[in-house]
Amino acid sequence: MNWKQYARTPRVAERAARARRAGEKLSKASAKTGRLLSPVTLTGRTVASSFWGKAWCANLESYRDYENRLPRGRSYVRSGAVLDLQIAPGRIAAVVAGSRPQPYTVEVNIKPLGTTLWSDLKRQCAGEIGSLIELLEGRLSDRVMGIVTAPGQGLFPNPADIEMTCSCPDWATMCKHVAAVLYGVGARLDTQPELLFTLRTVEHGELIGAAVDLGAAPRKTQRKRIAEEDLAGVFGIELADAPQPARKARPAATRTSPAKRRPAVKPTPRARINSARIGKFGARGNTKS
Ligand SMILES: [Zn+2]
Repeated sequence: MNWKQYARTPRVAERAARARRAGEKLSKASAKTGRLLSPVTLTGRTVASSFWGKAWCANLESYRDYENRLPRGRSYVRSGAVLDLQIAPGRIAAVVAGSRPQPYTVEVNIKPLGTTLWSDLKRQCAGEIGSLIELLEGRLSDRVMGIVTAPGQGLFPNPADIEMTCSCPDWATMCKHVAAVLYGVGARLDTQPELLFTLRTVEHGELIGAAVDLGAAPRKTQRKRIAEEDLAGVFGIELADAPQPARKARPAATRTSPAKRRPAVKPTPRARINSARIGKFGARGNTKS
C-alpha cells in the first residue's frame, strides 16, 4: 500500500460510523420487503469466544492462502461492516459495508463434507460425545477435538472446499469483505454452533447417534435428556414455538425439531473437559485484533 492509499484508508471509527449508517439504510430498505437482516455484532474484544467459533477462525488462519487478507477482514467485521449474514447448507450470503455508499454482496459456497469423511468422523467419535449440548458447547475430549479440527480430515473446510465472490471492484482471490464474512461466520458459531454442520451439509445429531448405532452402553447420569430450555439458554437457539425475528431468515434445513434435539439413547460416559482445552484454540488463532 502506497502513502496515497494509506491516506485514503478510513479510520476505524469512521468505518464503524459508515457501517452503522449503511446498516440503518439497508434495514429500512429490507423492512419494506419483509426481509430480516442478521448482522454480525461483536460483543467483546475477540471475534469469537466459543470452542467452535475459535476453531473456525483458527482454521482460517492456518492457511497461507488467506493470510494477507484476513487482518483487514478482522478489522472490518469488528467495525460492524457485516450488515447481513445468512447461512444455508453449503452457502453463505452476506452484505458488507465498504468504502462506497452501496454495500457489497458476498457469496461463499462451501463443499459438502464428503460422505466417506463424514462416516469416518462418526465412527471415530462413536460413543465419545456425551450429548448434543456437550457437542454444541464444544465440551469434547482432546481426542475428539483433534478429530473434528484435523485439517482436511475434520469438519472445517480447507481452501479447496471454498468458493467466494464479492461485488466490490477490487475483487481478487479474497477481498477484505469476504474475509470479514468468513470471520463473521466464526462469530455466528458462538451463538449458533450447529450452523457449522449446516454449512458442511451434515446433521450434527448423527455424531451423537453414532454411539447408539454401534450399541454403546447407556450413560449413568442425571442428565437423561437435554431439555429444550437448556439449549435455548446456552446458545440462544431458536425453538420452534418461540421464533426470534433476527433468526427468521435461517433456512428451514438448519432447524432441528425439538424431538431430534434429544439423544435417542442415554450417551456413554466420557471424561469431563475443562475450559482450558478450549483455550488452546485461542492460542492457535489470533482472533483479537
Ligand atoms: Zn470485496
